[in-house]
Amino acid sequence: MASGIAVSGLTKRFGRTTVVDGLDLEVGEGDFLVLLGPSGCGKTTTLRCLAGLETPDGGTIQLRDTTVFDGRRGWNVPIHKRDIGMVFQSYALWPHMTVRKNIAYPLKVRGRREAIADGWVENAADMVHCGDLLDRYPAQLSGGQQQRIALARGLVARPGLVLLDEPLSNLDAKLRDQVRTEIRELHQELGFTAVLVTHDQDEALALGDRIAIMRDGRIEQCDTPERVYVEPASDYVAAFIGMSNRIEWERVDGGWSSPAGARVGPDDLGALTGQRAVSRVRPDDLRVHPRQPDDLEGAVALDADLVTAEYGGRHVDVTVRAKETRLHVRVGTGDAGTWIRSLKPGEPLAVSAPLASLRTYEGDR
Ligand code: ATP
Repeated sequence: MASGIAVSGLTKRFGRTTVVDGLDLEVGEGDFLVLLGPSGCGKTTTLRCLAGLETPDGGTIQLRDTTVFDGRRGWNVPIHKRDIGMVFQSYALWPHMTVRKNIAYPLKVRGRREAIADGWVENAADMVHCGDLLDRYPAQLSGGQQQRIALARGLVARPGLVLLDEPLSNLDAKLRDQVRTEIRELHQELGFTAVLVTHDQDEALALGDRIAIMRDGRIEQCDTPERVYVEPASDYVAAFIGMSNRIEWERVDGGWSSPAGARVGPDDLGALTGQRAVSRVRPDDLRVHPRQPDDLEGAVALDADLVTAEYGGRHVDVTVRAKETRLHVRVGTGDAGTWIRSLKPGEPLAVSAPLASLRTYEGDR
């Protein structure tokens, strides 16, 4: 049985610093929620509060329908009765215990001898394709195997809620993709509720049923991966989800003007009321041209100079400078890619983007 989570007003301070700042969060039963954000925004602390490893300074945490933490009364349910599995970034396997004993540990502390006798340990090891490693010690395992054992240990007691703190960040790129797919499969198969912390947008998009983007101890947007990707709620979320290009705008008579050198009509950026705005756009949505196209219907264009063009096999990653604004453009390796690689740094060119690919926000931050 999977458990849902409802967090309200969660607050955690370390000394004078408020690390989690009145955070609200709901996770449906069986859902996979990813907490995404930059280093230091409070993701791990939030997860540790859910696990009962930190005592919050305020708020409430409900697991399924039980209030496990209440700011005024403290913890209601002891940790070992909470039906939670944890998987850490650093694996945290016990070095002096065999794989078998490591995986069995959560069952042992819960006094579940019958589950051990019934083969739950072997079953969990098989789930992560490590059934033949049970008698080894952690030092005799590769990083990928250690991470899989840590997963097996988090899942062995068949918890309703699994908390995962950057479980892929110590793995190299290929293994990361493999273990990521395995986590997704295990979630589909076993149906637990999951909360995973990461700062990697690709991981968040691939794993989450919903993604909560954190900023300074609060959640800035919580939505499906598609919504977060297509309609980021703020400049901050857009930047974090791959819209690395930022174009600033100021309202001038009869339109909008950018210090990067672009001009667009009064309604081209959508319904805005203020004097300043910021647009975000993905590198894949920008195009490069020898000079500004004559037909600019539905697009914005800028004059720029080439900074670098890096070959990447299927694409060329181009950096240009439009006045003081740096922009990144991802170009296919066809004609445009060949042309851009023939240019020298400093040579002039033009960049354009369909207005529909811009996401624009009021203000200048
Ligand atoms: P990362 O991705 O780097 O782990 P994070 O978003 O998970 O970052 P947290 O680990 O939750 O962030 O930390 C948030 C802030 O709280 C950081 O500034 C950190 O230094 C501080 N912090 C975390 N744990 C403690 C602690 N036990 N004592 C004091 N400060 C702490």
